Amino acid sequence: MYGEEEMERVEKEIKECRHCELCKTRNNPVVGEGSLSAKVMFVGEAPGYYEDLKGRPFVGKAGKVLDELLESVGLQRNEVYITNVLKCRPPGNRNPATAEIKACTPYLDAQLGIIKPEVIATLGNFSLSYIFDKFGLKKDKISKMHGKVFDVSTIASIKKIIPLYHPAVATYNPGMKEVLVEDFKMLFFTLAKNTNTNQQQIIFL
Ligand code: URA
Repeated sequence: MYGEEEMERVEKEIKECRHCELCKTRNNPVVGEGSLSAKVMFVGEAPGYYEDLKGRPFVGKAGKVLDELLESVGLQRNEVYITNVLKCRPPGNRNPATAEIKACTPYLDAQLGIIKPEVIATLGNFSLSYIFDKFGLKKDKISKMHGKVFDVSTIASIKKIIPLYHPAVATYNPGMKEVLVEDFKMLFFTLAKNTNTNQQQIIFL
């Protein structure tokens, strides 16, 4: 399968990584998982308690919500790729530090380069900030941007970026589940109809 060797190399580097202090407190780094030919890559923030124990992304409460959202549009985990901005858990699930993001995101960049997803779905603010900065897009509040589709041109292709709320919001505010469900419909629609429009921002009503 295309990219297997490259991803194995990235996995090995992550497992041996000592570029920031998080390597001292992690149980397991969480590389990411899913299909190397995925059309969509989900990028979360950082592993939490259960992810750190199991070495897999989104396997706690937020992961349950993510699974339900994927299922709501007929997608399975093994058809998509799921990873995070940080590969190691910040102690107590604190926010990622700027230096940690700087040290860790070359791995995310490498994963993006291997998988070359047509669509990048950001989950939460840290992911949104990193991906928007990386592609030179202007950010606004997540409440204004969620579920909208942003086109970016790269040398190789035109990609779509869809900012989503972090699935954890639905665990402390159940009303947000419906918002996420609607945004996942947009994601699905975008995957199904991946036609490029050269517009910076497209809003489907
Ligand atoms: N939250 C994240 O952002 N990522 C995970 O993998 C789990 C919870």
